[in-house]
Amino acid sequence: MFTPAELLEINTLLTPESKIVILTHYNPDGDAIGSSLGLKHYLKAKGLLAEVIVPNDFPKFLKWMPEAKKVLIAEYKRKVAFDLISEADVIFCLDFNSPSRIGLLGDWLTKAKAKKILIDHHQQPENFDYVYSDTVIPATCQMIYHFIQAMDDEKLVNKDIAECLYTGIMTDTGGFRFRSTSATTHRIVANLIENGADPAMITSNTWDTNTVSRLHLLALILGRIEVVKDGKVAVLYLTREELKEYGFQKGDTEGFVNYGLSILGVKMAAFFMEDLYEDFIKISFRSKDDMDVNQFSRKYFNGGGHINAAGGKSLESLQDTIVTFKAKVEEEDNL
Ligand code: 5GP
Ligand code: MN
Repeated sequence: MFTPAELLEINTLLTPESKIVILTHYNPDGDAIGSSLGLKHYLKAKGLLAEVIVPNDFPKFLKWMPEAKKVLIAEYKRKVAFDLISEADVIFCLDFNSPSRIGLLGDWLTKAKAKKILIDHHQQPENFDYVYSDTVIPATCQMIYHFIQAMDDEKLVNKDIAECLYTGIMTDTGGFRFRSTSATTHRIVANLIENGADPAMITSNTWDTNTVSRLHLLALILGRIEVVKDGKVAVLYLTREELKEYGFQKGDTEGFVNYGLSILGVKMAAFFMEDLYEDFIKISFRSKDDMDVNQFSRKYFNGGGHINAAGGKSLESLQDTIVTFKAKVEEEDNL
């Protein structure tokens, strides 16, 4: 948590006259949107206005969240986003650890005169004016709750805040299953339910949103899943042609990589996908126990993230990327 002195300073920065912006990472997920909107609703409950800006669009299954439709998507409104960031007094940076994770906003953030406040749970955060980083906490949404507690404002938690924070904790813990899910996480979730978060509604709005084409895509990749390194590494992939053929929409492949990890004996799964528009391969890594995919991805695939969930990129062809990957896992001692 921020030190008491930092919390006092942050408090003095947050006035009704302050221009407050909340930023989150490229390809925003449930935790990114949940923490950003959760913080916005908290600030609103304190009588403060804030603008949430994301680098690019986010999946439809997150748009039910209160005020999700008011999130400013910078790829569609560059000038407005640029002006807001340049003129801000305070910028909250949520669920990312480096300006390089927010696409075109990174440069604007670096040059902005605002005080920058980081709240994030990824490994190896870069420098910001105020840093609350804890890589053991499963979701940035949980950190927003701790921030609200540290500001002595738990009484302000209302239904809007509760729904947003619940969503991010639910998605980033894979439904309260992943390793860093703690008793504290569950206590906070209990408070969120008491303050208006409805688990059945949130689960159904967020997860029961399959389209037939998404299930067909899933069937396709499950049908050719490959296991290497003595059954310890699962490999999944999708080509651009396949994405086009199945009418891919943002968010359609979310969670696919976890099927690889669910195979008995598998310690690491990798999902390779050609980008629909640009010439690169987006990679998702997931792992169990001490297999550190943050380090692996940083070392070989220009990426990073958490110990057990990370992402990366490759400029090689899909086939070459997979060949390189298989060679690297063969050399890996932790598998
Ligand atoms: P996903 O596989 O769901 O896209 O990402 C898993 C985790 O890794 C997320 O926490 C995400 O923020 C992080 N991540 C994904 N792609 C990248 C990347 O290219 N660079 C870094 N540093 N982190 C990434
Ligand atoms: Mn997160």
